[in-house]
Amino acid sequence: MQTHFPPQRLADSHMAASEQIIRKCVHCGFCLSTCPTFDLLGNELDSPRGRIYLMKAMLEGGEAPTPDVVRHIDRCLSCLSCATTCPSGVDYGHLVDHARAYIEAHYRRPFGQRLLRGLLAWILPHPRRFRLALRLAALGRPFAHLFERVAPLRPLAAMLALAPRHVPAPSAAQPAVLPARKGRVALLQGCAEPVLRPEIRAATVRLLERCGHEMVLAPGEGCCGSLVHHMGREAQALDAARRNVDAWITQMDGAGLDAILVTVSGCGSTIKDYGRMLRDDPAYAEKAARVSAIALDVSEYLARIGLPSTGGAPALTVAWHPPCSLQHGQKVTEAPVRLLRDAGFTVRMPADAHLCCGSAGTYNMLQPDIAGQLGRRKAAAIDRLAPHAIATGNIGCMTQIALYSGAPAVHLVELLDWATGGPRPAALPADIG
Ligand code: SF4
Ligand code: SF4
Repeated sequence: MQTHFPPQRLADSHMAASEQIIRKCVHCGFCLSTCPTFDLLGNELDSPRGRIYLMKAMLEGGEAPTPDVVRHIDRCLSCLSCATTCPSGVDYGHLVDHARAYIEAHYRRPFGQRLLRGLLAWILPHPRRFRLALRLAALGRPFAHLFERVAPLRPLAAMLALAPRHVPAPSAAQPAVLPARKGRVALLQGCAEPVLRPEIRAATVRLLERCGHEMVLAPGEGCCGSLVHHMGREAQALDAARRNVDAWITQMDGAGLDAILVTVSGCGSTIKDYGRMLRDDPAYAEKAARVSAIALDVSEYLARIGLPSTGGAPALTVAWHPPCSLQHGQKVTEAPVRLLRDAGFTVRMPADAHLCCGSAGTYNMLQPDIAGQLGRRKAAAIDRLAPHAIATGNIGCMTQIALYSGAPAVHLVELLDWATGGPRPAALPADIG
């Protein structure tokens, strides 16, 4: 695609990188066939190619975007299905990240949107605030049907639907320090996952210890920044990245780390990108690149070291839902399926497994109508397999799919832990297995 950026605008490294991405697009339109929003809405402006045109005009012109442009870019899930499909290697993800940050800096949203986004950015990255908000959700639940009827209040109804009725107590699982270790790894503690499903961390700790690994929860580490990053709040995301880089570099330069493991694939995508996000920061560029180089999804690491010997998994059929951030963002596709099969589960893939479930970070709260359609479609494809359980690798997908599917949703590591001697995942009914 031809571009006409004024040279002075290209002095900005982010603008120059986006211009290079745009120039790779040859308008072929292959990406349209795998874009969930184009599939649902049928509008070229809600397709990858249409959005690339919009982003090109917005970034080239250097003006504030119109509400129409913002609406079409907001509707993008950042699922990166288009990047997997594109034969020209267009790096759509980094382009839309830049566009979101540009919109945040140059566009004043209506008051209701600013309030909603501000609240999400203030609450979600902080486990204590998030836990309190979930408890308060019980007060709003009786009014959810009223919120549902008023368009500007629908995000509130979506949040109430996603909030669990019972907020679990924080996990007390702490890794042991093993003297004869085969490896030393850090585990991202994160923000939303330990509040919504503390069992995931507990299962990961047990599983890695069974593999003879020492696991570290690095002091000072917290939310990876991906939730605010995808809302265009770049400064907040970079602050989170710097804090985590400091925490992990202390471990790497101390007793050493073989890997930084992540159990939420959306967070893994962002941590693997820290090196790029902080490339212009002389104090952090090198450290961030070192952190990104050893960040791995937990399934990648387990596939590398192998599972501990097992007495065999319960005879369960498991539907594997590959999160977009894992399959399209990190290009990890085989490891989770192989691990589940090695553990003894029967694994089945739903139709259209490449399409997003509608979770996409805060998307299911900010765009509840599209997210609801995608969630129902995903759940129907999974339920057609009649699985005993749905396995996935992202707490957002688990929460979203559980809203619409009849099967219980668990994290991959909960099943692997169970199959190798751990307890039955709490989300599974007692008569399974
Ligand atoms: S990231 Fe997903 S929703 Fe956005 S344009 Fe690409 S395929 Fe469509
Ligand atoms: S598939 Fe790639 S090159 Fe073709 S229109 Fe889409 S983004 Fe552009």
